[in-house]
Amino acid sequence: MTLMPLLPLFHCLNRQHFDGDLVRGTRPLVSVRWSDGRLRKTAGFYRRSSHVVGKQGSEIVLSKPVLEHLPQAAIESTLCHEMIHAWIDLVLKLSEGHGPNFFSRMDTINSSQDKFQVSVRHNFPVPPSSPKWRAICPSCGRTFPYKRRVRGAACRQCCNTHHGGFWHASCLLDYEPASMEA
Ligand SMILES: [Zn+2]
Ligand SMILES: [Zn+2]
Repeated sequence: MTLMPLLPLFHCLNRQHFDGDLVRGTRPLVSVRWSDGRLRKTAGFYRRSSHVVGKQGSEIVLSKPVLEHLPQAAIESTLCHEMIHAWIDLVLKLSEGHGPNFFSRMDTINSSQDKFQVSVRHNFPVPPSSPKWRAICPSCGRTFPYKRRVRGAACRQCCNTHHGGFWHASCLLDYEPASMEA
């Protein structure tokens, strides 16, 4: 199976959803590539230049083993998710995980088209590993398994229901060790 080239898709998403901000002239601000066969724990990631040893520039890496047999929408959704991280880092120049800017851009993208939907977590089948944390929404009481604590993560459903789809501090998730789960 041939992997689809990512650069044309990157340019297309950049024009449609990032006002062209992730390209300077003709040069992408972030490089985009497929992983080798070993990246099995996540569908993709963004990493800032300072973490790339011996290389210049930030990069987005998409998992070949996780995504190669999934439909194009999964690839677009994953690439777009990582592009939001790149946009926050390189254009807004902020240090933010899945915080207010992430949510707001994600919601704008999701409501502007129905080819794919960006989610906070990449909800694709990856090899199971046990979650270490349980996140609890103080507003609705729902719980979500997390591998690590994510600062600023809020309950999406409550933000949607009570705050017009915007991130709100009252929906900030609390964390407790998953081992406390009965
Ligand atoms: Zn993310
Ligand atoms: Zn909630």
